[in-house]
Order: sequence, then C-alpha cells, then structure tokens
Amino acid sequence: MDKLERLAGFVRESSRIVFFGGAGVSTESGIPDFRSEDGLYHQQFDYPPETILSHTFYKRHPDIFFDFYRKKMLCLSAEPNDAHKKLAQWEQEGRLLAVVTQNIDGLHQKAGSRNVLELHGSVHRNYCEKCRRFYPAEFILQCEGSPRCSCGGIIKPDVVLYEESLNESVLERSIQAIHDADLLIVGGTSLAVYPAAGLLQYYEGDRLVLINRSPTPYDSRADLLLSGKIGEILRSLP
Ligand code: NAD
Repeated sequence: MDKLERLAGFVRESSRIVFFGGAGVSTESGIPDFRSEDGLYHQQFDYPPETILSHTFYKRHPDIFFDFYRKKMLCLSAEPNDAHKKLAQWEQEGRLLAVVTQNIDGLHQKAGSRNVLELHGSVHRNYCEKCRRFYPAEFILQCEGSPRCSCGGIIKPDVVLYEESLNESVLERSIQAIHDADLLIVGGTSLAVYPAAGLLQYYEGDRLVLINRSPTPYDSRADLLLSGKIGEILRSLP
C-alpha cells in the first residue's frame, strides 16, 4: 500500500484528528515561510528577521518593526488553499477535534475552521497598549510608522514575538487536544520553534503523520512520513 493510501485509511478510521501546523501550510496561499530557501530568513534586510520580530526590537525601534511587519507579515489578500479547506471539511464532518497552528494569518478560520488554537496569536487582533481598544488588521495596514490609538497609545498586534511567552490558555487547550487525538497530522513546520514544537510529546497514539517539504528533527518519530506539498497531499484525501 502506498503512503497516501495508508494516510487515507487513517483518516477514514479516525474521529479525533488533530492537525498541528506551521508557516508551510500557507506557502501555497502565497505567504512566504521563514526557513525555506525562498523564506524570509534567506532574504536580505537591515536586521535579521528574528531580531526585528523580537520584543526588545519592537520596543526600541517600533517604526522599523511596523515597516517590516506591514510588508512581510500582513498578507491580507491571501486566500485559503486546499490544506486549509480539507481541515475545515474534516471538522464539519465531525472527524477533526482541533487545528493547532503556529500561523498568525487567520487562513484556517477563513476556510471555515472553528476550533483553531493560535499558539502565536493573530494579525487580525490588535490592541492599544494603553487603553486596550481593539483595531482590525486593515487599520494597521493603512497607517504609516507606528499605529496610534485615538488615546495616543501604540497599537500592538496580538502576535507572540520572540522573547514573549505563549498564551497559557491556548497552550493548555493545545496540549489537551493533542493528548486526546487518535490521529495527529503535523505539517508545514520545521519544528524548530519552541515551545510549540515540544507539544508533539503530548501525543499518546500510534498514528503520528508528518507531512513536510523538507526534513525535520522529528522525522524518525513519525509513524508515517510524507514528503511533499501539504495542499496537494491533503487535497487527495477523503
Ligand atoms: P518555518 O518557516 O520554520 O518552516 C516551514 C516548513 O514548512 C519548512 O520545513 C518547509 O520545508 C515546509 N514547507 C513549506 N511549504 C510547504 C508546503 N507547501 N508543504 C509542506 N511543507 C512546506 O515555519 P514554522 O515551523 O511555522 O515556524 C516559524 C514561525 O513562523 C512560526 O512561529 C509562525 O508564527 C511564523 N510564521 C507564520 C506565517 C504565517 O502565519 N503564514 C508565515 C511566516 C512565519
């Protein structure tokens, strides 16, 4: 039996699928990831992206941060691809418990998924640091320099920067979902970012499927390893 058939069998037999994904899930929607050859970490900027996307840098140089953020992280015209759509379909069919994602682009929700656990936050939520007023992503996009609230405070995207900790409630619910899964599909992630990558250890089943375009440190732990584009692979499943 080939790998795709095995995966299709797993999907048919499962009622508590959990998907754990990263930036590679959205590359087929035209959003660059970080670590692929054409990813942001291989492009030239005045500072390394890891530095710009750190809390310290955000505080010291908010204008440079927001310039990078608008140009490289805010992709508001992107549309869900076949990976997002298949996961939403499985949830509607009652086969999928949750999508746990490191992505901040909101494309799972745009595809129709409801139980999406966003480990690193979302570009669609932005709050004034002073009065906590909410602003949509479109507001951040249309400003120049640091976006300012009507009260004068800086509006910060609700995304987890380097040096910042994850939201505890989202983390706990992600651990619970992964623990409860009867099939864990991990895809489009280099599994290089912690603590997110460490969540895989909470899976107790024997159907850990890894789908990625390049090798990851967890390949040897997978019960089924597929190399390729996640949208193309998920599209071919029931
Ligand atoms: P990463 O850039 O470290 O790794 C992406 C992985 O996905 C790579 O291993 C690559 O080979 C693989 N990949 C790329 N396209 C693929 C495809 N079509 N099919 C299968 N595999 C594919 O990304 P990461 O592991 O998510 O970690 C980096 C951090 O980047 C995350 O914290 C995330 O918040 C942030 N990020 C998010 C977005 C987004 O929201 N779309 C975009 C860039 C970065």
